[in-house]
Amino acid sequence: MSETVRGRIYDIQGFSVQDGPGIRTTVFLKGCPLRCPWCHSPESQLFTPQLSWISMRCIGTKMCDSRCVTSCPKQAIELGGTRLDSASGEELQMVHVKRDVCDDCGECAAACHPHALYICGEEYTVDEVMKKILADRSFFEHSGGGATVSGGEALCQPEFTLELLKRLKAEGIHTALDTTGYASWEVVERVIPYTDLFLYDLKHMDSKKHRETVGVPNEPILENALRLAECGAKFQIRIPVIPMFNDSVENIEATADFCLKLGEAVEVVQLLPYHNLGVSKHLRISDEKVAEAMPPSDEKMQSFKEIFTRKGIKATIH
Ligand code: SF4
Ligand code: SF4
Repeated sequence: MSETVRGRIYDIQGFSVQDGPGIRTTVFLKGCPLRCPWCHSPESQLFTPQLSWISMRCIGTKMCDSRCVTSCPKQAIELGGTRLDSASGEELQMVHVKRDVCDDCGECAAACHPHALYICGEEYTVDEVMKKILADRSFFEHSGGGATVSGGEALCQPEFTLELLKRLKAEGIHTALDTTGYASWEVVERVIPYTDLFLYDLKHMDSKKHRETVGVPNEPILENALRLAECGAKFQIRIPVIPMFNDSVENIEATADFCLKLGEAVEVVQLLPYHNLGVSKHLRISDEKVAEAMPPSDEKMQSFKEIFTRKGIKATIH
């Protein structure tokens, strides 16, 4: 089974300290049913592979004879824009990908030696991923860490995620699943025996606002959380604090009250203040500009943390 089931993955990151306890290796699966405008990994949203371009890696058309321009069978790359090279002070001629023409074939990425162009989203077998994770085993053992399966939404690739979690448990490795919780219960239920910790996002308690902003209602997410708690699952609840979306006292109070319903299943609530990292990452895959906001103040984050601690829930600001 593990030799045949394949997952579409956009990154495998070692030495991660943000995705559960200790030092971890995190496997990021591509594709998500939600469309959070603040997403810090916009390349994770689509299920299909995508051409990405990192301007700072591009050495300019003069240095590489415009290989990407000439290699594209669709004429989807044109000259466009310049940047100053920080080392030489020279102005470098950049390129521009015509997104409406490009079909993500990857010919240009193969021709781009500095990997300014690359295809985001590759297929791996479980065996291939396990090999990479097992190479980090000694770090897990010394730090109380393990492996985290993340996304996108890993539960959208249920067979791969289940098989990977099973293999990790069979190796005695601590497992965490970073999830939006937006999946059918039939899928969620299957991973419970192989998941030591759920890193579980709660974005808004008002389903209408949830749907308007991220594209799906919150009922399945809340329902799955309650059922998981009944089954004895353990949670780190994650709340991205997003200006003008969920940063009202009423919503944070309602979120804390929901966490109380999960009882001792909740190990900690992590409050994640909005940051604008996703804005520049978005430009790697699209010409469309995304809206930016100011991060919430420290005072506001502290006051939200106190809402949880007053109700007896351990909370941290991440
Ligand atoms: S994207 Fe790559 S191939 Fe194209 S100009 Fe930049 S460095 Fe050269
Ligand atoms: S991915 Fe293919 S179609 Fe798109 S720019 Fe590169 S070579 Fe052209």
